[in-house]
Amino acid sequence: MTETSRFPQPVSGTVTPRFGDIATFMRLPLFRDPAEVEIGLIGVPWDGGTTNRPGARHGPRQMRDLSTMMRRVHHVTGIAPYELAKCGDLGDASVNPASVDDSLERITKFYTKLRDAGAIPLSAGGDHLITLPIMRGVAKGQAPLGMVHFDAHSDTWDTYFGGYKYTHGTPFRRAVEEGLLDPKRVVQIGIRGSLYKRDDNAWAVEQGMRVITIEEYFDLGVEKVIAEARRVVGHGPTYVSFDVDGLDPAYAPGTGTPEIGGYTPHEAQRMLRGLRGLNLVGGDVVEVSPPFDMSGNTALVGVTMMWEILCLLAEAVGKRKGRL
Ligand code: MN
Ligand code: MN
Repeated sequence: MTETSRFPQPVSGTVTPRFGDIATFMRLPLFRDPAEVEIGLIGVPWDGGTTNRPGARHGPRQMRDLSTMMRRVHHVTGIAPYELAKCGDLGDASVNPASVDDSLERITKFYTKLRDAGAIPLSAGGDHLITLPIMRGVAKGQAPLGMVHFDAHSDTWDTYFGGYKYTHGTPFRRAVEEGLLDPKRVVQIGIRGSLYKRDDNAWAVEQGMRVITIEEYFDLGVEKVIAEARRVVGHGPTYVSFDVDGLDPAYAPGTGTPEIGGYTPHEAQRMLRGLRGLNLVGGDVVEVSPPFDMSGNTALVGVTMMWEILCLLAEAVGKRKGRL
């Protein structure tokens, strides 16, 4: 028996129908101990950082359901993630829907434990503030991280509502301040939408983040954007954060802060595949809001991006473990 054939495998849709039984991420077994896996798929059902339309707290459950549509082998790259790494559903991080501060502490604790166990996370949000406590765990012992950030928004605001510092519009300013992120190794792709004032994104640029607006994205095209992203993050440990509102709301309407004129799901898939071989240490897909997702397609698009990121992470783990 080879080592990899002992890794957890998803239940096949040819054995039990994919709409049946209990929905876990990708139909993987459920574990509660992060030491059981190398890549943990995790839900963070929390939207207490949301400043506009809520509902992302319902994202993980809906994404688990739609993730049963995924199979075992990537149809373009040929990557078979469950052959390369021990993957499992680790359930949800503990949250407190009535408290931002307590939730940040609970989520930080969950991801620190995961990091201490040597596992890396692939998370489903939740609103984008969850990435801050996730990074506190992931960055432990290897900060600062680089980041490839797909989003319509820079999420580098300072404060809201008279000095309040923790919303889904502020996680990456906080992450830079806390030394979790190296702004010079951050690339943001798809930034757009009307502004509060002309220099809304000036702080990000001043810190050295590479901000690729949607106009520049369409001018450059997918291949050049990939090359630029790879140049910016380099060889250091890098996190992938995918806000579904980076996509055009025609494809992903179920989100809190939609902005028209984004990239298509296929373009996003090609960009993610372009990140193969980077030193990836975790990822997330955030801001899927089922109450605004009348067709259910936003959750499907979201979990398909999770699948793309999972293939990247599994290849990175497989390489580190000498299995490739
Ligand atoms: Mn965001
Ligand atoms: Mn956004």
